[in-house]
Amino acid sequence: MSKAGFEFVERAPKAELHIHIEGSLEPDLLLRLAEKNSVVLPYKTLQDVTSAYQFQDLQSFLDLYYLGASVLVDEGDFYELMWRYLCRCRNEGIVHTEIMFDPQTHTRRGVSLETVLSGFSRAIVKAEQEWQQSVLLILCLLRDLPESDAIQTLTDARPLLQQITAVGLDSAEIGNPPAKFRKSFEMASSWGLRKVAHAGEEAGPELIRETLRALAVERIDHGVQCIKDPDLVISLAETKIPLTVCPLSNIRLKVYDRLEQHPILQLLDAGVRVTVNSDDPAYFGGYLMENFRALDRSQGLTEIQARQLVRNSFSGSFLPHNRKTQYLDQLR
Ligand SMILES: [Zn+2]
Repeated sequence: MSKAGFEFVERAPKAELHIHIEGSLEPDLLLRLAEKNSVVLPYKTLQDVTSAYQFQDLQSFLDLYYLGASVLVDEGDFYELMWRYLCRCRNEGIVHTEIMFDPQTHTRRGVSLETVLSGFSRAIVKAEQEWQQSVLLILCLLRDLPESDAIQTLTDARPLLQQITAVGLDSAEIGNPPAKFRKSFEMASSWGLRKVAHAGEEAGPELIRETLRALAVERIDHGVQCIKDPDLVISLAETKIPLTVCPLSNIRLKVYDRLEQHPILQLLDAGVRVTVNSDDPAYFGGYLMENFRALDRSQGLTEIQARQLVRNSFSGSFLPHNRKTQYLDQLR
């Protein structure tokens, strides 16, 4: 039975809604770009980098993540990063993807938003032309920086908004309440951007409630901690607010010790619109299909569950209604 579920996912056209493009930087590309751009890293060989990617906790992950991003300098670097992930989408049957990027990680190093977006766009246009890849971009604000920085970032992005679909909020949850970003999210919304935010990855269900209240987001990234609040689970099921869940990420960052304990299928069975995603796949042990494979191995994915997870990836997306219907019709 479980085999049929996984095989369904393998064959089906899918969407991915929670991937940080900077988190798809593989060790070999990291080393090559570091050499090209004369960025000094504390690693010499591929083996050194691969060992460093086996980090122990959130802080060692974040240190590595920001160090990794520092090798991205010119337009071609951003193009190559995006191109590699989009080729992965083609191979895994991810026909639509909504990709997050962190402008502040780059602009604070003196790399302009124009450089970042022009590299991304070149790869996206090529993938659209070559195999009709569908891509939307989510501009993510770093919640550990002040709101004035977020407002500046959005203001700088305003002339480039035709390339961006949504605003998001990521990085350290604890000590950075969503209300801190109320003004930025209102501004982004008034410019026509859709709204998502990370919440309830480590911090409890109250942060999910607070994020929905303060920022009126349409989707919660992670959100797994809602399982501790049965009323919230019922309300998420009723409102159909999607949760973009990342199983392997939750294991690597020790939200759960083992995948057998992960609540994603319990939430699915309770009617919550959960989706499977890879988060930072180069760092967390795998891309989308690897997440499905690990979930199937640990909990056994039935065909009904598999079909619903894939359907959720489209119904929870920001695609226009007719495009959603087209994809959903293929999954009956
Ligand atoms: Zn994330």
